[in-house]
Amino acid sequence: MKNRKQHRDDYRARTHLIHGSFVTGKWDYAHHVNPPMTASASFRLSSLRRGLEGFAHFAEEAGENHPIYIYDRLDEPTRGMLEENLAYAEGGEVAVCYASGMAAISAVLSVLAERDTEILAHETLYGCTYSLMTNWLPRFGVNTTFANLIEPANVARHVKPGTRVVYFETPVNPTMDLIDIAAIRREVDKINAGRPEVQRLKVVVDNTFATPYCQRPIEHGADFSVNSLTKDIGGFGTNVGGVVVGPRSYYYRLMLFRKDFGGVLSPQTAWGILVYGLPTLATRVVNQQKSAFRVAEFLKGHPQIESVRYPGLDSFPQAELAHRQMVSSDGAFAPGSMIYFSVKANGDPLRTAERFADYLAEKSYCITLAVSLGNIKTLVEHPYSMTHSAMSHEERMRRGVRPTGIRLSLGLEDYHDIITDLKQALAACAAQPAGERVLAEVPPR
Ligand SMILES: *Cc1c(COP(=O)(O)O)cnc(C)c1O
Repeated sequence: MKNRKQHRDDYRARTHLIHGSFVTGKWDYAHHVNPPMTASASFRLSSLRRGLEGFAHFAEEAGENHPIYIYDRLDEPTRGMLEENLAYAEGGEVAVCYASGMAAISAVLSVLAERDTEILAHETLYGCTYSLMTNWLPRFGVNTTFANLIEPANVARHVKPGTRVVYFETPVNPTMDLIDIAAIRREVDKINAGRPEVQRLKVVVDNTFATPYCQRPIEHGADFSVNSLTKDIGGFGTNVGGVVVGPRSYYYRLMLFRKDFGGVLSPQTAWGILVYGLPTLATRVVNQQKSAFRVAEFLKGHPQIESVRYPGLDSFPQAELAHRQMVSSDGAFAPGSMIYFSVKANGDPLRTAERFADYLAEKSYCITLAVSLGNIKTLVEHPYSMTHSAMSHEERMRRGVRPTGIRLSLGLEDYHDIITDLKQALAACAAQPAGERVLAEVPPR
C-alpha cells in the first residue's frame, strides 16, 4: 500500500519519531492510530513450509521484507517497530533491542571481540560496563586496556595488534568531558588502513548521556551506537531496556546473540517506549536542556559553587567540540540535560556533599536523590560515594570525581523551582555547625 505518508524523509526527525513508519513490513497496522501491543510468545504457522522458512531466514533482512515470526525471543513485531524507529533516530542501518542497556553493551562487545582479542576503552566508564570488561570478558579471553581517549592520539599509543574495539561514552559520566568521535575515527582509519578486513577496529559509542536527539555518533564516524533505553529514550523511568544501532552486516550476529543469550526486550516494554518514550524524546530533551542551561548559569554565579561542567556553557572547556558534536538532526546546538558541579567545601568535603544531598533528599519537593538519569523528574546523585565508589580515592580524584561533586539530571519541572530547591540546599550547607552525620568511606570492591 503506497500513500503519501510513506515519504517520511520529507519530515523532520521530531515529527518522524512521533509518527514512526505508519506502514511497516513488521506488521500492517494502517488502521490504528497507535501501534497495537503484541503479547504472543509463539506465533501460529499456517504450514510447515512457513515454519521451515522462518527458521531458515531468521534475521536475514532488517525489517524490509515481511519477517516470519516464530517465537518472541527470535523476533517480534512491536519490538521490531521500535527497532525501525531507533535505527532512524540514531541514523544507523539497523537496531537490535535488548533487555537492558547492559544486555545491549554485552551483546555488541561479544559480537565484536572474540577470544584473544582486546578492547581499548576510555578510562572512565559506566560502572557496570567497567565491571563487565574487568570481571567477565577476561574469562572469555577478551581483555581491556583503559586509556584517556579525550586525547585521540592515545588510540595509536595504546592499540595492540589484537585490539578490535575502541569503546567510550561521550559525554563522559559524570565529569561531562567530551570525546571527539570524528577524531577517534580518523585515528582508527589510519590503523585500519594497514589491517585486513577481519582485524579492523570498530568504534562503539555509548550514547546514553547525550541521547540521539543531541548526538548521533554514527554520523561522526562511529560504527555502533548503544543506548540504555531506561534513561532519556524511555524517559519516564518506568522501563528498562537497551539498544545497539549499527551496520546491517552485523544484524544477524546481534540477533543471533540475543536469541541464544536470551536478553530480549519484552514487547510490553517495547510498546511503552514506542508509544510514549521515543515520540516525546525531542520535546522532553529540548525542555530539559533549557532548564539545564538556566540551572548551570545559576550555579556558575553562586558563591558556594566551585565549578560547573555543562557543555552548553560558553565557559565549557571543550565548547568548540560541543558545538560540533552535540547537534540535533535539525542543526540546533543540543548540549543535553546533564550537569556536573562541585560545591565548595565547608569543612570536610565529604560532609559538605552529604549535607547538600541529604537536604535535597529530605526537603526538596522537585529534586530527587536517586541514580539513573533522563527522567521527567530531576534526579541528583553523588558519584564519589555512589556510582563511582568502586574506584580508589586516587583514581576518582585523577578522573575528576571529587568528594564535593554532584551530578544533576534535569527533568521537566519549572526551572525556577529547581533553582529554588538548589538555593535552599546550598544555604543549608553553608550553615554551621556541620551536623553529626559523617559519610563513612566504603572500601572499594
Ligand atoms: C544506565 C546506563 C547504562 C546501563 O543501562 P541499563 O539500562 O541500566 O542496563 C549504560 N551506560 C550508561 C552511560 C548509563 O547511564
